[in-house]
Amino acid sequence: MTGPVLVTTDLDRTLIFSPRATEQLGGGLPRSVVEVLEGRVVSEMADVVRDGLAQLGRFPAAVSVVPTTTRTPRQLQRVDLPFTPRFLIAGSGGVVLEHGRVDEGWARATARRLAGCAPVTEVRAVLDALVADGTVLRAHTAEDLFCYGIVDPARFGAEEAERLTARLLPRSWRVAHQGTKVYALPDALHKAHAIGHVRGRMAEELGDVPELLAAGDTWLDAEMLELADRGWVPAGSEIARTGLPPWPHVTLTGAPGHAAAAEIVAAWQAHVLGTSAAGERARP
Ligand SMILES: [Mg+2]
Repeated sequence: MTGPVLVTTDLDRTLIFSPRATEQLGGGLPRSVVEVLEGRVVSEMADVVRDGLAQLGRFPAAVSVVPTTTRTPRQLQRVDLPFTPRFLIAGSGGVVLEHGRVDEGWARATARRLAGCAPVTEVRAVLDALVADGTVLRAHTAEDLFCYGIVDPARFGAEEAERLTARLLPRSWRVAHQGTKVYALPDALHKAHAIGHVRGRMAEELGDVPELLAAGDTWLDAEMLELADRGWVPAGSEIARTGLPPWPHVTLTGAPGHAAAAEIVAAWQAHVLGTSAAGERARP
């Protein structure tokens, strides 16, 4: 290995899929349930992906896989991962967990950046007004960091998303709409910010800046993919459908769904094993 490797990856519709997403996207593979809520299967992971992640999770500290998601810590910890990551990035970069505990230094840095954006209560009021007039079905606030609404895709489309964007832009908030969910996030929250923090921590400990591999399926993953040395975007994903930007370092998978996840994890394994002696150092 020429140096350490940091893999930051989105989960939903990148590595794990709801039964509905699998039905929509295709690319089904033998898989296991990794998340259940109130007796309902929420997410599944392909067995080959599970095995690949478990192998990556056995590498020494110089190889670190960090789930990087917009989920809240509680929603994230509900997912049964095949390895125990040292770091988890939740709340679209607003929260960093290390060994399951909140990184307080990062929490303070996030709070400082959030002070430059409108308060979450103000944006929640905008969403509540949309619930009142029937544009949005339900509104939620996540970890006091950002808001999201549940929408009917037949009644909330690109036009509604643009109208909401126009209202939130002056408040230094942005909007990301995907299917039945519309997210409103302060500009201070970006996965890439938190990745910079984790990468810095690793660099300090290892004496070398880790190479960054990343994967994600939506525009909430765009800065992370841009920041990465190598990135992967699943076929059939939001980014793929709206047009992959000219990122020479980013690969679009050949297949969608679980098959895309399998392709991505296999590429990480090949990268880590192929460029390094790390394989020999992996714990059995
Ligand atoms: Mg996703």
